[in-house]
Amino acid sequence: MAVRRIIILGSTGSIGTQTLDVVQSLNAAHAQGKGEHRYEVVGLAAGSNTELLKEQARRFNVRHLAIGAEEISAPCRTWANEAGVLLGPDAAEHLVRSVDCDVVVSAIVGVAGLAATLAAVKLGRDVALANKETLVAAGELVIPAAVASGSRLLPVDSEHAGAWQALACVGCVGPGLRDLTLAPPMNLDGRVRKLTLTASGGPFRTATREEIEHATPAQALKHPTWSMGKKVTIDSASLMNKALELIEAHWLFGLAPDRLDAIIHPQSLVHAFVEYCDGSVLAQLGAADMRCPIQVALTWPGRAPGAAKRLDPMTLTKLDFEAPDHARFPALKLAYRVMEKGGTAGAILNAANEAAVRLFLQPGASLKFGQIGRLAGEALEEVPTRPLTSLEDCLQADAMAREFVARRLGLRAAVTAR
Ligand code: NDP
Repeated sequence: MAVRRIIILGSTGSIGTQTLDVVQSLNAAHAQGKGEHRYEVVGLAAGSNTELLKEQARRFNVRHLAIGAEEISAPCRTWANEAGVLLGPDAAEHLVRSVDCDVVVSAIVGVAGLAATLAAVKLGRDVALANKETLVAAGELVIPAAVASGSRLLPVDSEHAGAWQALACVGCVGPGLRDLTLAPPMNLDGRVRKLTLTASGGPFRTATREEIEHATPAQALKHPTWSMGKKVTIDSASLMNKALELIEAHWLFGLAPDRLDAIIHPQSLVHAFVEYCDGSVLAQLGAADMRCPIQVALTWPGRAPGAAKRLDPMTLTKLDFEAPDHARFPALKLAYRVMEKGGTAGAILNAANEAAVRLFLQPGASLKFGQIGRLAGEALEEVPTRPLTSLEDCLQADAMAREFVARRLGLRAAVTAR
């Protein structure tokens, strides 16, 4: 029997819990003779939600666990010590290094997921990549490491999963996606004229500049089409999420910035368009349900019956597309500035954004929604960009960007620390 062993990093989050749903449904299908593999969860890493982690470990019979939080309650620590749970900020990375597996699902939020993901890549594991911050901050390290180790980066972000499927079906894959039982790697820059990612436009798609500037966390967290963790939901509202995704696509598919574009598509049904040099365009569609791209990554290059919502073409009565308004959503353009600058620019943008989002979401916070993108843009211009040759370079740039945000707001550096 073909078994695929999985470690899930960020198992207690939105992507992590949906990954466990997908595993359950794939195993049910496999038991009925459908689908090539049975999936065995061999490791789980969480941040601080120890109760859910325990429940997941019981339900999926998982022995190897990691908790990233610096502080946990005394009873929790007793349980963790008895159960041999790895503890502390490096716990997820240690889990990846110490537990053998076939695929690591990278679904920790933020740059906190980088070290463990890079470790998985260096070990040559398949990596189902939801954590876009890894490629934004350190694509320059991660892609060569994947090429060297043979690790396959399997995109989970719905737009990248869509683009990947539209590229792979004609034998085109990018440097991070060499594979894949298809043709050998091609020079995508020569064959692909444009890759366009879609964005829902978020809750402020039709809001005025003034309304966006003063939006509250409750308003920003009301995403019209996707149900996701808080950080990515706030990023979607500012369109920073699309900026991060353009940088992610740049690394995954090896496409130059002038071949990458983003457009607004409020229905979130078309995820990506790939326009080839001959004028042919392949688009990928699917219901707004992350279980679909998660499953595609886990079963690639195979297919199996899934639990995700279906998209009935007869319901496609209206598909709207509009150009993004850069005056109201200035964050989007920062992606191109990062790609132009290179080096540690991605780590700086990402860290400044993470710090600002965290401050915005703090109860009683005084940071305005509009300040998030502005602070990230200022950090990108004012924190010196350096060459990126190691994880340490990346983390140093990350720390400098966080300090910049704290300084700019007159806060203690500890408030924005990783
Ligand atoms: P959530 O906030 O829902 O979940 C984040 C997960 O990371 C939680 O399990 C959390 O643990 C864990 N975590 C945080 N810090 C640490 C740490 N130091 N060590 C170990 N685990 C940690 O986020 P999402 O699931 O929404 O997003 C995860 C990633 O996937 C992000 O990079 C996001 O951009 C990307 N993504 C998400 C999509 C979605 O639909 N949600 C779509 C596409 C991409 P705990 O809760 O226990 O503290």
